Amino acid sequence: MTPKAETHEFKTEVKQLLNLIINSLYSNKEIFLRELISNASDAIDKVRFKSQTEEGILGDDTEFKIRIERDAIRNTLTVEDNGIGMTREEVMENIGTIARSGTAAFLEAVQQLDKESVLTPELIGQFGIGFYSAFIVADKITLVTRAAGSEQAVLWESHGDGEFTISDAEKKGRGTRITLELKKKEEGEPDFTDEWTLRGIVKRHSDFVAYPIVMEVEKEEPIPEQEQLKDKDGKPIGKTTRTVVKDETLNSMKAIWSRNKNEVEDQEYEEFYRHISHDWNAPLEKIHVKMEGTTEYTALLYIPSQAPFDVFNPEFQHGVQLYSRRVFIMDDCKELMPEYFRFVKGVVDAPDLNLNVSREILQQDRLVRNIRRNLVKKLFELLQKMDAEKYETFWEQFGSVLKVGIYTDHENQKKIADLVRYKTTKSDGKWKSLKAYVDDMQPGQENIYYITGENLTALANSPLLEQLKSKDYEVLLMTDPIDEWVTQALTEYEKKPLKSAEKGDLDLDEVDEDKKDLYETLFKHIRATLEEKVKEVRPSRRLTESVACLSGDAQDISGYMEKILKASGQEVPKTKRVLELNTSHPVMEKIQELFEKDKKDPTLDAYVHLLFDLAVIGEGGKVEDPAAFSKQVGNLMAGK
Ligand code: ADP
Repeated sequence: MTPKAETHEFKTEVKQLLNLIINSLYSNKEIFLRELISNASDAIDKVRFKSQTEEGILGDDTEFKIRIERDAIRNTLTVEDNGIGMTREEVMENIGTIARSGTAAFLEAVQQLDKESVLTPELIGQFGIGFYSAFIVADKITLVTRAAGSEQAVLWESHGDGEFTISDAEKKGRGTRITLELKKKEEGEPDFTDEWTLRGIVKRHSDFVAYPIVMEVEKEEPIPEQEQLKDKDGKPIGKTTRTVVKDETLNSMKAIWSRNKNEVEDQEYEEFYRHISHDWNAPLEKIHVKMEGTTEYTALLYIPSQAPFDVFNPEFQHGVQLYSRRVFIMDDCKELMPEYFRFVKGVVDAPDLNLNVSREILQQDRLVRNIRRNLVKKLFELLQKMDAEKYETFWEQFGSVLKVGIYTDHENQKKIADLVRYKTTKSDGKWKSLKAYVDDMQPGQENIYYITGENLTALANSPLLEQLKSKDYEVLLMTDPIDEWVTQALTEYEKKPLKSAEKGDLDLDEVDEDKKDLYETLFKHIRATLEEKVKEVRPSRRLTESVACLSGDAQDISGYMEKILKASGQEVPKTKRVLELNTSHPVMEKIQELFEKDKKDPTLDAYVHLLFDLAVIGEGGKVEDPAAFSKQVGNLMAGK
């Protein structure tokens, strides 16, 4: 059984995190309130959604509300909601540990920064660590929460100094109540118990929150006629108004997407983005559309300016929320966006949708399918129109995600191919589109050449490209693991076949037949010596300067693909590569001489292994026996 009160240490990472947040957000303290309100609003969304299938879960507490209470004397501020609340386990998981991958990933990112870099709010914001931001202004936080459908409440308390306690508690009604014991206000700082300060913050950051954010305020109101003191002529004596304390809703609750585009300020769009995305950075782009007719919907979609750290996590939540007539239906609505647009955040409001629609039904819903097709089209239009610089930012952040569409969405493959960018042997480190590549092709060049691998510089200097370079052919340098799949699906662009510089025949020049015959027996010997490592030894049509390289047959998997599969823990059938040798290289003559003199000469054997190692090094790989390699080269240098 769980003891009633327990003290826990925050995980070390959380401790570090708290310090980082507190220090780096010092100049923009007020955002803590936005974070708490956002959480409250999410919690109400959740209980509201649940109540559609679990009747009675709301009881008689059906008026959703977020309440702010201020107490200037005690110097406290409270934010309370009647949302879904949390169980003890949920409190432990969400508030006290780093179970949420975000926190751990965040710290990893921070640790990779060099010491001088400043930890900007942008950086932190990417990780959605909202709740902790309250420690910017609070010495102590007390959270009392009761999960919907449970009788038991939980109390969580912390000074943000490394420990928190958790115990059973009592609470009337479901939801979460968070009380901040505010730090002593310093000269020139905002007073977070002041009515107008709070009004201002709510207006600035949370105006469109869909539930009323209420606060008690003092108001002057007229004293009713019959209660007024009057003289004998019926004239009032003394005051005709009195001060009363009343609830006031501080936000307009206007759903931003249902407003007209020209009525919404940029600032409001940005705040709304922050609200739904939990990302503190401004978005890169947005689309706000209203469609009428058979497929009626309103959508407000955003493209973030930075890829979330977990965008490649298989459990990554899609960012589109579904509403019907401003009533929240669900978030993480995967049915509305293809996988390759999973980073898009926003809201889709479809008035004709049944509120009780389930995820299973959504998949088959014609309306939803049409909306999705429509939105995808709009997103492609937006990306095509984006100015070059912005598009580059987009590409660097989301290119790898978008490329997935090349092999998952045949219908839109061409559109995505138009949007794809690569660095090339001629692009000077800049991104280049396939269209621009094709426009720049050399006369007589028939293929789009590419090479895949981990390291851009190694690729650019790969011996495999020597022949292509001597013809002044450009080569796409593909360093993204996804490209291995892209090139399997995208076999041509504008009728030009994509061809690997590493695999198969490059169909460039003919091999010198005389030399081929000359070296035939030597090559057989080399093949026999390297039996374990190579499947064939061939005169090269790729090399002009280097003596050796490794290649594959057209249907083989590439060296990089093998590496990727291995790294992901998959069984990879051992594929032997092809050793290509440059028959015009003087070294080959020398080896031939040795071979003719004495096939059993140990130097010959050493050279053959050296040839193989040179090919491995040429593609940026690691030689199997570095010590033997270095000894061998040493001997050679000494002329032994
Ligand atoms: P984020 O909101 O970005 O996930 P937070 O640290 O702000 O990060 O919150 C962590 C989690 O704690 C939330 O995802 C939610 O599950 C839970 N939580 C926070 N505030 C509340 C609340 N008012 N009611 C219910 N759950 C909450």
